[in-house]
Amino acid sequence: MSERKVRVRFAPSPTGPLHIGGLRTALFNYLHARKNNGTFILRIEDTDQNRYVKEAEDYIIKSLDWCGLTPDEGPGIGGEFEPYRQSERKAMYKEYSDKLIADGWAYFAFDTPEELDKLRTEAEQNKQVFAYGTETRGKLNNSLTASEKETQEKINSGEPYVVRFKMPENTDVTETDIVRGKVTFNTSQLDDKVIFKSDGMPTYHLANVVDDHLMKITHVIRGEEWLPSLPLHVLLYRALGWEDTKPQFAHMPLTLKPQGKGKLSKRDGDKMGFPVFPLPWKDPQTGQISRSYKEDGYFPEAFINMLAFLGWNPGTEQEFFTKEELIEAFSLERIVKAGSRFDPEKAKWYNKHYFQLKPDTELAELFKPILTEKGIEASNEKIVKVISEIKERCGFVSEIWEQGSFFFQAPTEYDEQTIKKRWKEDTPEKLSAISGLFESVNEWKAENIKETFSAFMNEKEWGFGAVMNPLRLCLVGGNMGPDLFVICEILGKEETVSRIQAGIKKIV
Ligand code: GLU
Repeated sequence: MSERKVRVRFAPSPTGPLHIGGLRTALFNYLHARKNNGTFILRIEDTDQNRYVKEAEDYIIKSLDWCGLTPDEGPGIGGEFEPYRQSERKAMYKEYSDKLIADGWAYFAFDTPEELDKLRTEAEQNKQVFAYGTETRGKLNNSLTASEKETQEKINSGEPYVVRFKMPENTDVTETDIVRGKVTFNTSQLDDKVIFKSDGMPTYHLANVVDDHLMKITHVIRGEEWLPSLPLHVLLYRALGWEDTKPQFAHMPLTLKPQGKGKLSKRDGDKMGFPVFPLPWKDPQTGQISRSYKEDGYFPEAFINMLAFLGWNPGTEQEFFTKEELIEAFSLERIVKAGSRFDPEKAKWYNKHYFQLKPDTELAELFKPILTEKGIEASNEKIVKVISEIKERCGFVSEIWEQGSFFFQAPTEYDEQTIKKRWKEDTPEKLSAISGLFESVNEWKAENIKETFSAFMNEKEWGFGAVMNPLRLCLVGGNMGPDLFVICEILGKEETVSRIQAGIKKIV
């Protein structure tokens, strides 16, 4: 089996937006494919029409695209095993359901939802749980309790039915999961799952196994929540005679809430103030828009690096990995079993790292729309200069504005605390002198300004702090920002002098 070409699939159900957990599944599949020169497939599992959300598929494709996890085969891309949307494969599944029935692995069941509800309620009243399975199927309305003729008549008369898998009695099903090792389930704990519905659609279980087989999938890499389905899937491979080419399974650990307890849910982001979605998602029902990594200013490379560490580690101290480095370092064997706590602060930390690596010119391009939105015009040269000065303090493009807005607009307010502490009676007089001095500076460069300023201060024997702090206050409105003379240089002589004058007039 090992010589088979690696083929993996990301198989989301379009029931809503992808969140961190779903994308991590996509990422691990992608990395495993790339690492092994394999194929990464996107398959849309849309057999459950009741839960289908029209906008979800597009969202899934755009999210993968934003993360740079482009599938090799999939809807809209094509491939040898088209179509890749299960609803379009509808006609293919019946044959397998029929085969399972013919071989005694499955049966027709005619019980109505009301009848089943009643049985569930009765069981509950006796503090039990109703299961359609080995214990009960012999007393229920199905093709095992009716004759072949009766069954055929019911079907012919249009009576709705489902097909159920006939779980073998008290049998151990063992499978070796790449992450979890040997896992054994006993069938007595399992019920007879519906595999085919009266609307002609297979359920997830049948469609998933049939497609994995037909699409020659070699590894099923998915979330831990699918582990309970594993014995049924293994039995389906057995029942359909496909055991020889059955894929290997790797069930990834759960992604936990930041507090460490409980699975991270799609609602946690809005509740706890961090994004869980890659792209903005507008709830089709409520119209509510959830925040997203992209809109919050995260770089895809930071997002991916953060995702990779949710349940995987390289076994070394290295924490920063480009996509190429991840491909190189990745192995399914290094996925951990324990749930991985999602830490929104770590995501910010990763972003800061990738922010620092970006050339100033690229950051300038990303920052320009923020200026435009504020109606501010500035030369490219100035923007790049500002960024090079304040970059270190930023982890997001939006923080360039937070840290450096004063480079682009004169202060309209001045920090009260700083005024109280630094603005003395003789301050206006001293600043007037500095303003005059600045006007005489010929070459408006930070070193020059500094030199002229220092010489003047020494001559006057004024304390540097007594002038520099109020000067900064006039220029930036508070006591923040990089080197004062660098600020002067970037603002330009005219603007610097004008801000000093404005400060003298306005600050009292
Ligand atoms: N359609 C399933 C999901 O939505 C796929 C599970 C699997 O990968 O087998 O997650």
